[in-house]
Amino acid sequence: VIDKGQPEHSVITTCAYCGVGCSFKAEMKGEEVIRMVPYKGGKANQGHSCVKGRFAFGYATHKDRITEPMIRDSIDQPWREVSWEEAIAFSADKIKGIQAKYGRDSVGGITSSRCTNEETYLVQKLIRAAFGNNNTDTCARVCHSPTGYGLKATIGESAGTQTFESVMKSDVIMVIGANPTDAHPVFASLLRKRLRQGAELIVVDPRSIDLLNTAHISANHHLALRPGTNVAMINAIAHVVISEGLEDKQFIENRTDEYNAWREFILDDINSPEAMAEITTVDAEEIRKAARIFAKAKNGAIYYGLGVTEHSQGSTMVMGIANLALATGNIGREGVGINPLRGQNNVQGSCDMGSFPQELPGYQHVSDNALRAKFEKSWGVTLDNEPGFRIPNMFDAAIEGTFKAMYVQGEDILQSDPNTQHVQAALSSLECLIVQDIFLNETAMYAHVFLPGSSFLEKDGTFTNAERRINRVRKVMKPLAKYADWEVTQMLSNALGYPMNYQHPSEIMDEIASLVPTFSRVNYKKLDEQGSIQWPCNDEFPDGSPIMHVEHFPIGNGRFAITPYLGSEDRANRRFPLLLTTGRILSQYNVGAQTRRTANQSWHQEDLLEIHPNDADERGIKDGDWLGITSRAGDTVLRAKVSDRMKNGVVFTTFHHPISGANVITTDSSDWATNCPEYKVTAVQVEKVSSP
Ligand code: SF4
Repeated sequence: VIDKGQPEHSVITTCAYCGVGCSFKAEMKGEEVIRMVPYKGGKANQGHSCVKGRFAFGYATHKDRITEPMIRDSIDQPWREVSWEEAIAFSADKIKGIQAKYGRDSVGGITSSRCTNEETYLVQKLIRAAFGNNNTDTCARVCHSPTGYGLKATIGESAGTQTFESVMKSDVIMVIGANPTDAHPVFASLLRKRLRQGAELIVVDPRSIDLLNTAHISANHHLALRPGTNVAMINAIAHVVISEGLEDKQFIENRTDEYNAWREFILDDINSPEAMAEITTVDAEEIRKAARIFAKAKNGAIYYGLGVTEHSQGSTMVMGIANLALATGNIGREGVGINPLRGQNNVQGSCDMGSFPQELPGYQHVSDNALRAKFEKSWGVTLDNEPGFRIPNMFDAAIEGTFKAMYVQGEDILQSDPNTQHVQAALSSLECLIVQDIFLNETAMYAHVFLPGSSFLEKDGTFTNAERRINRVRKVMKPLAKYADWEVTQMLSNALGYPMNYQHPSEIMDEIASLVPTFSRVNYKKLDEQGSIQWPCNDEFPDGSPIMHVEHFPIGNGRFAITPYLGSEDRANRRFPLLLTTGRILSQYNVGAQTRRTANQSWHQEDLLEIHPNDADERGIKDGDWLGITSRAGDTVLRAKVSDRMKNGVVFTTFHHPISGANVITTDSSDWATNCPEYKVTAVQVEKVSSP
């Protein structure tokens, strides 16, 4: 790190990496950020940070930034730099022409969990009001869409129930399919602090995560299950709780519905630890022990990540988690709750802002006439009452020839969506692909228009973190490409004939507050005064809501859901005997577009395949060997890392580098309710090869 001396001024803003949402003081010399200092007044981080937020901001001014709009008539032509006016007019003409030829529903767009709430709101508004359909989806489709479905069905709100600080009152902490030390480092430090104070830890994960090695903790329990068997595990835990009479009878009586039907289902022998031990490969006694510890805790909290959602039964598992929390009365006070650890900085926000094809902002369904009428009055248009395409539907329709144009803001769908070959086929079928990003990403190979994006340092707005905390993002430098992303969306909308005339993102937030009941008292003045606000923030909770569901659920009572276990589609067999699962490491971030353009790159230069020593021995594999990995979808090559962190029969890799292309081998299997891809279960064969 180079010491750049004393700052001339500083600006408080929010980290744009993970869902913890740490506040930082951007220390400036002129227009240059010389240091990012974790801000003590930040309520999510209280002065702490990790190596990404603190050191990996240099990508914002990296030489690879694209600062001029570019267009081309076909993807085999070279890019041509043009003025903003020409790029916007070109894009609008293409969309109008395609809709005239193929119909209103032949176009759509994808919002980004990397962008601000205000930008996400504008993109979905552009699609609904200017495109005239509901073909809007978000990159949250591929991470936490099952959280939205599962929590809405059981507790009535698609959001985590607690503050991060709440964990300091937990006695037993169950972490399922999450690796906070790498993916949510600042929250992991808080969690470790509580573990050192005496809280017990239960980890449900096929891999031995670092949290299990926390020094000086009283007890930990690792249920190292086979990938794809989460629902079997949560049902077995619930079976023990109910069959041994460990449930919270008063909470069930006063605060829940549908209990008797669920009780009958869960007590079936099929859900017993003995039956589920065979499926999960975890000893029945271990399951019983963990279930008893959780149920007997004064305060039991559940934290989960993509190891829950990115499964063909992702939504079922989220409902299974809610069942357990309801049955044990662990909702509605500090130290308990259901806590999805959101991956990207604004996953919660992009879902809240109406990015999904079936829901207007605030999870208000498009088919509800009264709710739709409210938006129609405010926006001055007639809205479609049918849900539009999800991302996988857009890909399928593009290949079939009925979907012809797509506007993608801030997501590299080619690299981050599963089954790369299928995505390539879809993108190459489009007549117009408009990509808005800060770098010429992999998706842009198939684009006809490239609109330069703006980084978090170049705009005003808000992000909403995993604890529903709305944090201010403040502009510290002028946009390198002249406009912030929200301004570009606004220009495109105007060119399409639907007028937008916002002067500042605060006006967009005022509009959101007028339409979304859980945001009705949110505004920039209050955000500046309070520092941040946890929604719901409305007449009932004017200062926001650190803990949700204290006295009632938005749906009245919590609802138990029937959650039968079904095996993953992609199963190991003789041809593909190992199960691949994927995840992140601390210094890198998602597809690496940002962190690979910072000093963090020196800590992690390639994706490796972690393999258990027994599986490695069987194949004559040693550390550093090149490995060919083949699945039903495709094949790739990675270097080996032999590690006893892995369960026998399970291999693991990260997805931070395009060259390895982990998604070349992931399949089309997806969650039954939301189409969230099953990234966490891919049957593969692994063999030593001589070179890549
Ligand atoms: Fe940024 Fe997350 Fe690290 Fe905080 S924990 S500094 S939000 S990456």
